[in-house]
Amino acid sequence: MNKKITQNNQKIYYSTVLAVIVFMLLGLFAGNPRFHHLGPGYFTHGVLVLLLSICLLIYPLYKSHFLRVMIIVVASTYFYTLFFLYPNTGSNLIFLCLIPAISILFYDKNLFHLSLLLNTISIICLFSYVAIGDRGDLYPYISEDLIGNIINFLGSQAILYFIFYLSYERLKKQKLYYEQIKQSERLKTTGQLAAAMAHEIRNPLTVVKGFLQLYEKENTNNETSKRHYSLMINELSTAEQVISQYLSIAKPDKDTETELVNVKSVLQSVTDLLNAYGLLQDNKIVLSKVEDCYIAANTIELKQLLINIIKNAMEASKVGDSVVVTSEYKKGWVEIKVTDCGQGMSKEEVDSLGTPFYSLKSRGTGLGMMICFNIAAKYKGTIHFDSVKGQGTTVTIRFPATNAELDK
Ligand code: ADP
Ligand code: MG
Repeated sequence: MNKKITQNNQKIYYSTVLAVIVFMLLGLFAGNPRFHHLGPGYFTHGVLVLLLSICLLIYPLYKSHFLRVMIIVVASTYFYTLFFLYPNTGSNLIFLCLIPAISILFYDKNLFHLSLLLNTISIICLFSYVAIGDRGDLYPYISEDLIGNIINFLGSQAILYFIFYLSYERLKKQKLYYEQIKQSERLKTTGQLAAAMAHEIRNPLTVVKGFLQLYEKENTNNETSKRHYSLMINELSTAEQVISQYLSIAKPDKDTETELVNVKSVLQSVTDLLNAYGLLQDNKIVLSKVEDCYIAANTIELKQLLINIIKNAMEASKVGDSVVVTSEYKKGWVEIKVTDCGQGMSKEEVDSLGTPFYSLKSRGTGLGMMICFNIAAKYKGTIHFDSVKGQGTTVTIRFPATNAELDK
């Protein structure tokens, strides 16, 4: 597939280059006023056409930085030479304005800046020559409205600058996106491996735990070994629990049980877990107003949702800032709010949330919000973002309050 795309791109490149060469040859031979009295000017024109054609034709073979610089230098010289050789062809000025566009094709920021700078310097020299040296002899269309021509030139460079930046940013984002797809593919395989391993470890654990429980019953008279047995059994239970939780997250498709979940205790345990994470940047989670609320959901999934959202809030926060969490009943809903005073998001960024692999973090997976939206939808809840770029974000998570609670 990739090979096909490369081949296709090469075809497009060579046909474009051929068209360019044909136009350059036409310029050299068709109706050229210097064709009939050949001289050094015409010779230079021919050499530049040859040089530029060779550079363009061999570029795909080497794709080196040197060749790119060569193409830009030769093309600039070519267009400036045309301008001086054929003063009657007023449209040559358009090409001079478009020179930096050549480096847009290479998506090289430094090259583009260099080309823009060189072109501006060259055009300043050119306009100075026209104004002082030529005095409207050969270039009356420039000297008659010098200021207008200068403004038009600057305007055209600004437009090129915009075009370059917009497409450059888009390309950068696309690159990041592909890298993240690759990374998440890797994560998926390692996740599957880990799930398979966890599953295999769970069985021997259960067997060992069963035997320990048996021996614990037999050793009723020795207090010390009884304590040791119960300690071992407890530790094994913890390990079992960790594995089960991991498995339920690794297999999101599995039917999870809907139960009455105490939001307050879930928030408490998520806070305990994440406060350790916040120590790195001195971020704290403040449970400011947390009512005893109940919703019909799955504890592990609700934890997963809250961990993702609160973790994002902490990652967006500045060093030392706190993330404030509240939860309360509101008109038949349980409303959980997570507020941070961090970097915030623009409207476009908020709209992109939940798109798989959308992440602005260098090591983000861009899967967290997708998982959150899925979990919220599963239990008929909603997630809403209020965010101001540079000021912070409030995430409002709503779940229907359970009937049992409303009836109270
Ligand atoms: P990840 O955290 O792996 O980047 P997420 O899906 O969790 O992926 O988040 C996607 C993106 O949304 C983040 O990269 C971040 O740019 C933005 N984001 C999410 N929550 C917040 C927040 N509270 N403040 C600012 N940006 C946020
Ligand atoms: Mg995240």
